[in-house]
Amino acid sequence: MLAVSDARGALAEHLRYFQDLGVVGLSGDPAWSVRPVGRAAALGQAPTASVEARLPGPSEVTADASVSIAVSLFDATSATPTAGLDPAEALTAIQTDLGDCTRCKLHALGRTQIVFGVGSPTARLMFVGEAPGQDEDRQGVPFVGRAGQLLTRTIERLGLRREDVYIANVIKCRPPANRNPEPDEVTTCEPFLFRQIDAIRPKVVVALGTFAAQALLQTRDPISRLRGRVFNWRGARLIPTFHPAFLLRNPPEAQRKEAWSDFKKARALLDEE
Ligand code: SF4
Repeated sequence: MLAVSDARGALAEHLRYFQDLGVVGLSGDPAWSVRPVGRAAALGQAPTASVEARLPGPSEVTADASVSIAVSLFDATSATPTAGLDPAEALTAIQTDLGDCTRCKLHALGRTQIVFGVGSPTARLMFVGEAPGQDEDRQGVPFVGRAGQLLTRTIERLGLRREDVYIANVIKCRPPANRNPEPDEVTTCEPFLFRQIDAIRPKVVVALGTFAAQALLQTRDPISRLRGRVFNWRGARLIPTFHPAFLLRNPPEAQRKEAWSDFKKARALLDEE
């Protein structure tokens, strides 16, 4: 049996192959996970591309994870191919696809605007948070409130400028009363984040806080177990750490030191070959 990380890599490779062939969508319907036994198979005909692009069985990777990965690689509703575009063009295409998005219920729950992401399209370092808060919803820019100001200061302490990095969230609309995003909202929105990451191709991604780390790594492990580790993820090195909003709450000195150590590790990885 493949390790989950190996299986994910193999699955991603498999799906990219079919994306190159022009397959633009996959179904999470279990019916697609089964080879046809009907007319085509009985006639010995080659399966269609859609059937060949079925998800691997549960022995390779869990069904939930496979569906989520599939959705993350393909936005069946409106994906503009971005292969061959430079990162800035690709981001523009993705934002155009997103449009005035109404794909999940958050569009009708009080958002002012979509918060797409901000920064350099060729950033080598990317930060991913949970969702826009009140300030971000008003300004249309991620991490501009008090937590964002702390993040900006941290970036500057690392010897970088905010405009050198790229900053985004797992979901792009503010949940009402800053509640946690719900699973259907994440499943619907995160394909756009993954497309942004694939366009930018950062060397290092820092997941800010429990929610972002769990969503990106598809785990329920608490941040206390995830931080301090470096994950190979989507062609980048992923470092989970505490959310700046948590650090603003004056946590114990040890946790503030751990966070700074995570940020310094991210900086050091940028300088590695
Ligand atoms: S959270 Fe994402 S999927 Fe939902 S409406 Fe906003 S942009 Fe669309």
